[in-house]
Amino acid sequence: MSKLIIDKDTCTGCESCIPSCPFDALSMQEGKAVVDEKCTFCGACVEVCPVNAITLIKEEKSAAEGTSAKDIWIFIEHEFGKVASISFELLGQGRGLADAVGCKLCGMLLGDKEAVDPFAKEAIAHGAEKVYVMESPLLKQYRTDPYAEAAVSLIRKYKPEIVLFGATTQGRDFAGRVATTLETGLTADCTDLGIDPETKYLVQTRPAFGGNIMATILDHPEFRPQMATVRPKVFPMPPKDDSRKGEIIRETLQMTEDQVRTKILEFIKGAETVNLSDAEIIVSGGRGMGGGENFKVIRELAGVLGAAVGASRAAVDSGWIPYEHQVGQTGRTVRPKIYIACGISGSIQHQAGMKTSDIIVAINKDGEAPIFKIATYGIVGDLFTVVPMLTQEFKKRLGR
Ligand SMILES: Cc1cc2nc3c(=O)[nH]c(=O)nc-3n(C[C@H](O)[C@H](O)[C@H](O)COP(=O)(O)OP(=O)(O)OC[C@H]3O[C@@H](n4cnc5c(N)ncnc54)[C@H](O)[C@@H]3O)c2cc1C
Repeated sequence: MSKLIIDKDTCTGCESCIPSCPFDALSMQEGKAVVDEKCTFCGACVEVCPVNAITLIKEEKSAAEGTSAKDIWIFIEHEFGKVASISFELLGQGRGLADAVGCKLCGMLLGDKEAVDPFAKEAIAHGAEKVYVMESPLLKQYRTDPYAEAAVSLIRKYKPEIVLFGATTQGRDFAGRVATTLETGLTADCTDLGIDPETKYLVQTRPAFGGNIMATILDHPEFRPQMATVRPKVFPMPPKDDSRKGEIIRETLQMTEDQVRTKILEFIKGAETVNLSDAEIIVSGGRGMGGGENFKVIRELAGVLGAAVGASRAAVDSGWIPYEHQVGQTGRTVRPKIYIACGISGSIQHQAGMKTSDIIVAINKDGEAPIFKIATYGIVGDLFTVVPMLTQEFKKRLGR
């Protein structure tokens, strides 16, 4: 608890502190200043007291303060019986972070008992040394109330130093609620994470001001745990080793269904399924497409290959294809096995979202286009000739 102490012996009753309080929390009693419950511990009065009669003792907001745990936790997200690949990617990156801090790498897994048991083992196989499992039938499917309650009680009990979530629909909803309940910070949508070698604080990088700058963010040292959501596919998948051993710590959620404000009635899949993040092959079109209707050549090739359709911002901004398809700094980050860029010049901002693809095929009529510098295979030519030829050839070879 924060405290504001007024030393009655030192206080001269000059009243200079009274108007300095923005919350009207100070008054005079028997010629001395007194403080009431309206005080927010802002410290304004401390600075104006001419005789240093006021002392502010600030509460440590750190959930991890005074503990020895200080580990790095990764939220193991799951839906429809499957762990989200971002959780494994975060375990991979978390390993390096934990080594840099000198702490343990742990998973935080919430769910119904039998259903999540295999997920704890999967987390260990991907690098977790410990997995904290909160079990309850209320946690069978993601709902904000029970998930936040479960995470907050685990974090308060075991006090990790850093907690990382995927910047998925679930992670974005969940992490915000957890952070506000714990009164700590949250850096959303990070594209890189590191550890400051001196302070051991989490260094969080994310695009800011519409992607015009990359911001590096450190949390205030008084607020813990440090929390971030991280975009899928910015980190590689770590190797899986089923022989790895780890500890599983089980807890039970102390909550009843009547305390949960939402019920899941039904899941309805969105009409547009653009799953760029999970796609193994992506065929993308840029300004070189020349119009929205021309994307049909991209869709035909994507259809034959079982690929997702991506786009550059130029194509999206021209209204040729919805934003959900945009790849790049202000769109999706992707890491497919094959990325086929058609009529895309390869700007820095586009590359930021796709350059870690395993194989990049560039089709562009300008042999000097920057995309060729990062392409594994380059075809200099008109995409309206080359792409239909590829479609026909793949159709033949794949028998589709
Ligand atoms: C803050 C910020 C964030 C941004 N974020 C993103 C982002 O997330 N994603 C993104 O993509 N961009 C982003 N941009 C925009 C980026 O700078 C480029 O303007 C954009 O990527 C260009 O798209 P493009 O390659 O399709 O178009 P262009 O650069 O115009 O390239 C078109 C290419 O098509 C080729 N071409 C034309 N006709 C044909 C044809 N018939 N056959 C073959 N090739 C042909 C041309 O030779 C050319 O190389 C961002 C910019 C800013 C400032």
